[in-house]
Amino acid sequence: MKVPILVPKIFNFPFTYDSGALKNLSQGDIVIVPFGKNEEIGVVWDKIQPSNKKFKIKKIKLKINNFKINKNLINFINWFSAYNLASKGMVLKMCLGDKKNTIKIEKLKKEKLNKKIKFNLNKSQKKSLDELRKFGEKFNVSLLQGVTGSGKTIVYFERVKEVLSSGKQVLILLPEIFLTNQFKERFVEFFGFSPSIWHSKIGIKSKRKIWQGVLSGNLNLVIGARSSLLIPFKNLGLIVLDEEHDPSYKQDDGIIYHARDMAIARASIENIPIHLVSAVPSLETYNNVKTKKYNHSKLINRYSDFPLPEAKVINLEKASLKSDQFIATETLELINNYLEKKEQVLFFLNRRGYSPFLICKVCGYKHLCPNCSIYLTYHKSINRLICHHCGIKVKKEKTCNIAKDNCNFRMHGPGVEKIYDELKKIFPEKNIKIFSSDFLSKKNETDSILKKIEKNEIDIIIGTQLISKGFNFPKLNCIVVVDADFSGMGYDLRTTEKNIQLYNQLSGRAGRFSNQSLIIYQTLTPMNETLKDVLENNPEKFLNNELTIRKNKNLPPFSRLISLIVSSNSSQDSFRAAQEIKKKLTTIDQLEVLGPVDSPIFKIKKKYRTRLLLRSKNTNLIQKNVGKVLENLTISKKIKLTVDVDPINFA
Ligand SMILES: [Zn+2]
Ligand SMILES: [Zn+2]
Repeated sequence: MKVPILVPKIFNFPFTYDSGALKNLSQGDIVIVPFGKNEEIGVVWDKIQPSNKKFKIKKIKLKINNFKINKNLINFINWFSAYNLASKGMVLKMCLGDKKNTIKIEKLKKEKLNKKIKFNLNKSQKKSLDELRKFGEKFNVSLLQGVTGSGKTIVYFERVKEVLSSGKQVLILLPEIFLTNQFKERFVEFFGFSPSIWHSKIGIKSKRKIWQGVLSGNLNLVIGARSSLLIPFKNLGLIVLDEEHDPSYKQDDGIIYHARDMAIARASIENIPIHLVSAVPSLETYNNVKTKKYNHSKLINRYSDFPLPEAKVINLEKASLKSDQFIATETLELINNYLEKKEQVLFFLNRRGYSPFLICKVCGYKHLCPNCSIYLTYHKSINRLICHHCGIKVKKEKTCNIAKDNCNFRMHGPGVEKIYDELKKIFPEKNIKIFSSDFLSKKNETDSILKKIEKNEIDIIIGTQLISKGFNFPKLNCIVVVDADFSGMGYDLRTTEKNIQLYNQLSGRAGRFSNQSLIIYQTLTPMNETLKDVLENNPEKFLNNELTIRKNKNLPPFSRLISLIVSSNSSQDSFRAAQEIKKKLTTIDQLEVLGPVDSPIFKIKKKYRTRLLLRSKNTNLIQKNVGKVLENLTISKKIKLTVDVDPINFA
């Protein structure tokens, strides 16, 4: 009997094999097949790939009896591949992971749900829980919206508990950074067992345990980052996706996909509900709520009824700061009130390192990355300049182009390390800590610093974007945004949206247990529109305005964009290849092809990058036609083509 077998390799179709002596093979069976000179794991797929070529059909070697992938997952992999223009084989690879997953059997401790632990929901939470229930057990998307601190987590925990009690499986998706001990402890407190956690950095053995557990039905709950989407659940009953607006749900290298959109597709194929959770939803989700495609449940107040922090703007233009000073006297006076009460202050600055630029006072030299077309950031802690794209580290010293000596560098603009120095001089006895990826390379470090903040052992925290995430700091009552200037940041149509979400989330960190919390915005541009939106703190109004702008400009969600990035060692090669590809694509009906243009960051990791942007109506799945053209392309080996459906990053 001829059998289609998909192998976890670059191919977008299953190969045909002979079942040999194996009887009763069916879709989803996991097998070992000869492949080239080696053996490969494979899955019995849905359809034989038609072919005119004659080739020798090889025999399947053996069937692995312990596990089988269900039909829903096969359909999901097919759909995932078609939507993202990624090969089926590579998507299967994400699902199968390590080959030993299927062979080496791991022992598993079963979760014991403690149904006795009761949490008191307030009125608003009860109402939301009721609404989520009423949306039903079949496929539907609902948005659970509520300001930071309104108790959304407990509402969906209750829902999860119900679904688990009915014997079905649940997947909770979180952005990677949220998978902290703090969250885990909260979970254990509620459910009475320790959750299985899945993300890119867990060990191979843990992965294997989870993989086998969900496939055999012995494990019913997984909390995971985006890659957990492709875990082979046997009997999935609910997906919850927390912080649905978080841009890190977009996987930006390897196979490019948006985990939120893929999670919705998986729920649809499994015919189960999915709850999206957010304080300020993404524009796409908000639009789907408005057009009634998604259900909506809203928590209005903060759980404990403490008000959101008061906002204050400090005009740096009038603050007469010295050239190497970035904190205004007025700011210092305000934060002193909090420090004296032994309450915490957070300085927020989304810039790692010490200074974004060093410029030579004599010749004007700036360090440019040798691999990328961006400037290097100075990190004082290691006395090196680092490229935030490729990670290269470079020494500061350089022979000056004009003076006979080395360049005489001056720092421009602050990074978190500079703010640390400035604060340490003013508050030498205070315990000050930086919370940025450079200082939190290990998970234990993150957990230990979070514990210290929770216990109020740190007086002043200096944090990047990382700190805005869902942590609960009881003693944090004052936040200083060091540099609230929103002009010309990034190459991204979502910049404003992201800022609104970021600052909404950030301000929610303060005053969880206080009536007198404060957020200070230091700025050179107090009249800036985005800053006004941030201050107004009326996300609905902002989202509505933004939707109107997108509609007028025919941008998503009112159209579909696909971005093609052509990269190569030579700028001419990549440009020419992009022109060739454009020629082929223009044959597609109802597809607009913009470009080619040089990418805003033209060179990354020594590769020159040229972009094409495809735009079509969002009603038709244009990927099918684009996919056909791309599959028939003959591209030179010197060229790399990356496809990004629904791009977020335009750099
Ligand atoms: Zn670089
Ligand atoms: Zn110089």
